[in-house]
Amino acid sequence: MNIILFGPPGAGKGTQSKYLVDKLNNFQVSTGDILREEIKKNSDIGQQIRTNMNEGKFVSDEIVNALIKKLIDDPLKKNKLIFDGYPRSLSQAQYLDLLLDKSNQKVDHIFFLNVNKDIIIERIEKRKIIENRSDDNTDTILKRYDTYMETTRPVLDYYSKNPNFQEINGTQEIDQITKEIDAFINV
Ligand code: AMP
Repeated sequence: MNIILFGPPGAGKGTQSKYLVDKLNNFQVSTGDILREEIKKNSDIGQQIRTNMNEGKFVSDEIVNALIKKLIDDPLKKNKLIFDGYPRSLSQAQYLDLLLDKSNQKVDHIFFLNVNKDIIIERIEKRKIIENRSDDNTDTILKRYDTYMETTRPVLDYYSKNPNFQEINGTQEIDQITKEIDAFINV
């Protein structure tokens, strides 16, 4: 089963994707984590990624799509993908459809975790203390939220027409969100 978790930064995608990975024995595809790993390698691309991330901007589709392609082409992960933070732009969503189609896969569920800006800011301020991420400061959070609204909103319009799309109130308790996701995947 392939699942997309979709929503603004701090919506709880990471938490729910970890739950689904354990439950379904799937693989998490967190482009944020993959990009942070690239930064650690200190390559030229890594430095470019670091600059984009710390400014709250998106990393280029070219870089992100190349990293994603490797995962979708991996036969061990076929139909076992939980997407967390990808796709984030319309061109990424279209590219994902193309890649999945080519490898005879599809998206079984798209969950949109809907959370408003004030709660996002509150949550990311708390996460900063726990995870110490360099892009979790107030200015960058606001920029990330605005980038999300500008670039990712068209992805929401694109997916909301899909019969497998479900909107979930992401301001609820973690367990309640998990329960609602469980009811939809019905496994
Ligand atoms: P996240 O860990 O998902 O909050 O992502 C952290 C940062 O990584 C984002 O603010 C972007 O700079 C970058 N990033 C993660 N996923 C993507 C993506 N699919 N496309 C472009 N940039 C991304």
